[in-house]
Order: sequence, then C-alpha cells, then structure tokens
Amino acid sequence: MEKKTVYIETYGCQMNVADTEIVLSVLHKAGYTPTSELEGATLAFMNTCAIRENAEEKVWNRLEHWRGFKKRNPDAVVGVLGCMAEHLRKDIIKSSMSIVDLVVGPDEYRKLPTLVDATRATAESGIAVKLSRTETYDDIMPFRAEGISAFISVMRGCDKFCTFCVVPYTRGRERSRSLTSIADECKQLEQQGFREITLLGQNVNSYDDEGKDFSDLLAACARAVPNVRIRYTTSHPQDFDQKLIDTMASHDNICKYIHLPIQSGSDRILKLMNRTYTRDHYMGIIEKIKLAMPNAAMSTDIIVGFCTETLDDHEMTKSVMREVEYEGAYMFNYSPRPNTKAYDTLADDVSLEEKSRRLNEIIVLQNEISARKNLIEVGGEHTILVEGRSKRNEIEWKGRTDTNKTVIFPRLDAEVGEYRRICVTRATSATLFGQLMDQKESKTIMPHSDRGEVIYDALPHVGSAVSIDRQNHAFELPVINS
Ligand code: SF4
Repeated sequence: MEKKTVYIETYGCQMNVADTEIVLSVLHKAGYTPTSELEGATLAFMNTCAIRENAEEKVWNRLEHWRGFKKRNPDAVVGVLGCMAEHLRKDIIKSSMSIVDLVVGPDEYRKLPTLVDATRATAESGIAVKLSRTETYDDIMPFRAEGISAFISVMRGCDKFCTFCVVPYTRGRERSRSLTSIADECKQLEQQGFREITLLGQNVNSYDDEGKDFSDLLAACARAVPNVRIRYTTSHPQDFDQKLIDTMASHDNICKYIHLPIQSGSDRILKLMNRTYTRDHYMGIIEKIKLAMPNAAMSTDIIVGFCTETLDDHEMTKSVMREVEYEGAYMFNYSPRPNTKAYDTLADDVSLEEKSRRLNEIIVLQNEISARKNLIEVGGEHTILVEGRSKRNEIEWKGRTDTNKTVIFPRLDAEVGEYRRICVTRATSATLFGQLMDQKESKTIMPHSDRGEVIYDALPHVGSAVSIDRQNHAFELPVINS
C-alpha cells in the first residue's frame, strides 16, 4: 500500500510551531507519516500567520511556487491552515485558482483526516474555520521531533482586542488547558530527554484553570521537572503581577528572561492601541522585576508608525528603550490588518518612508543597547544549555543562557543537552563568546548568571539587526519566521 505522507511548512510564531505538532499528531493517528520533502507528499500544508501583511505575502508567494508541485502531484491535497486560513477563509480558495483544496482554522484540526478524505472523495475544496470556546487539544500529545527544547501550548486565544491585532479574530476567545495535564506533559518530556520547556500562550498571564493562575502553573511545572529549564511567552503588561515575579525569583529552573511587549512609549498611542496600561504602569513592573531579579534579561515588541504617531510619541518609545535597556527587541512598522479596529476606524497616516526612518532609528538604538549590555557580560559566568554546532563551523558550538542569550564556544567535551558552566570572553551586540569552565556535565541546573564586573568604554561593531534567536527547536519540517 502506498505510504501516506504529510509535509508542513510553518510560518509565524511559536504557537504555530506547537500547533503544527498537534496537526502532525492528529494526522499520524490517521496513518500519515511526516516528511521533510514536499515532492511526493500526499498532503502539503502551510500553517500560516496573519499578524502582518508581509507574513501573508510570503504564503501567497509560496502558494504560487507550489503551483508546479500540484501539477506534478495532482492527487496531493494542498491545505492552508492557521491564522491566515481563519482571516481570509474562502478568499484563499478563490484567489489561488484552485491550488488550495483545504482551508482549516486553528480550532478545527481534529477534523483534518475527515476533511482530507472528503476532499479526495468529492474533488471539492473543503473549508473549516469555526472558532471554539473550549478547544485546547488538551488530550492530544503533540508529535514532536527529537530534540532538547519543547513547546507546550498552555492556553489559546486572546480577549485583549488590541486595535491593531487580528489574533482575537483568528484564534478566538481565551481558554486554558488544565494545570495537571500540563505538569504531566512536562514530566513526560523530561523522560523523553527534553531539557528545556517553553510554556506558550498569546497572553499567558490570563491563564486560568478553575482559579489557578499562571504563577501557580509556572510553579507546578518548575516543581514537576526541577532539572529542566522552564520558559514562557508571551506576557501582557496589564496582567503581569508581583506573584509572577516572586514565582520566577524563587525557582532556579525558571529562566530569568521576560518578554514584555511595550509596543509604544506614548500613553496616547497606547490608548489608541487599546493596550490597557500606561507607560507608568509598565515602568512600575520593570522596577519590580529589577528589584527581585537584578540579572533578569528583558525583551520587547515595538510597533513603529502606528496611526497618528508623532515624532514626540516616537521619542517617548526611544526613552522607554533607554530606561529599560532591553537585551533585545522585535521591532516592526505598523501594518494595518483588515478586520481590526485600527484598520476600520483609524487613519494609517504615517508614510511608509517615515515609518522606515523611525524603525531604522530604533534598530540602531537597540543595537547600541544590546552591545552595551552584552559587553557587561564579559568576564562573567553563565550556565548554558548546550544546543549543538554553531552555524559557522564544526569546532564551535552554541548554547543558551537562561537569560536567552546565545553563547558560542569551543566544543571540547560538550554534548547536546548538557548544562555547562561557561565564562564569557567577548561579545557582540547579538552574541556572546566563551569558554567552558567545567569538564563534566552538570546534572542539575545551577543558579543562573553572574555578570562580569569589567566595564568597557568602547562599543564593538554593531550588527544590522537585533533579535532574540528562536529556541533551538529541531523540527525537520521548515519553520519560517514572519
Ligand atoms: S494581547 Fe493584543 S497583541 Fe497580543 S495577541 Fe492579544 S490582541 Fe494581539
């Protein structure tokens, strides 16, 4: 019998990576084997992102590219999954002139085997985009490739309705998985050899399992697997509280890295974005974090050129960046998304040229800050999780600090998945370089970082972009960041 295979390209955020693992699990149970080869695949899916216009453009371009594949493999079922499927629905089938057989939104993945069969039997396109108030895929064990880092999706959807964001419309209302099932999954992952787990949600701080909040969940996971690092993303400043800070500070295996999107430093713009916090509130959280965890690393998201943003507003964003001194930032031009409140009610009145100029300004500023922060690390020590070969050569390997910084080092006896102590010897704005200090694997997670005391007065060469690298998530199937 012909082997049934499924090929998936994943675009966008870590939630989509986690969802791809759910899709693979559902299809694996139905007899499909994942493949990393598009050519010859029985099912060819794209798990898509709709957060920005260029994320959707990438998918349209890729679908164009798949036209040849579909011609060569007329029996293959081509599907668009994820946020773009939810956002554009029938338009995808119409616009791609029949290349796409299936359009399936993020809450309908259980139906995939049935939808595939129906499409094959009738030769008609299928569409399933109903959003659910209860679906969490709690009972589905994701189909994960071997590796050392795993994602666990702990809640789905978002109720915040930021005016620029499509997520509440593409992923629906907030709902949480049970704390017990998540803690159990952590234990299973540890038994399978994973050494780092990232808890995922659009707004993890809204996690609620019958009164147990996100801090309770984080503490339960940290206790369940004391020798595995726990990370999480993403937080919303409105709900980020002292209890969470105390929980992070009191567990060595909860990474001291916080991604806390600010989006803008101007209260006027924050209000227009419906972010539901002020700059003062945000800075109050930062103060509390720094007090409890002086070595914690912070990163953020910034949108440049939102509707009516003035130069004064822009300067306020820059001043927040200087005050917080983020280790990294995801920085983007505002791109209006159809069906959002900002698209419907606010004028996108900052020219593309001006947006790009402002974006460039904050990228340069962030590079300077990152370079300065990384230089302070020189002479200091970190416990890193060894991730494998560096991209550049076979002798140098890379690992990650609990503050989410990549460290390049000569391999010596290091093996993937070990926690090793490292001394930082030099730094650029994007990367630390170091030497192993110990010769044996550390079986447990040691207290996090001690930054160096050496103060340098010269900045190194500044790279062209600042971002925190993706987690080392060794899926064979492609993941394309938007
Ligand atoms: S918090 Fe705002 S930006 Fe984040 S997913 Fe929800 S609506 Fe979108």
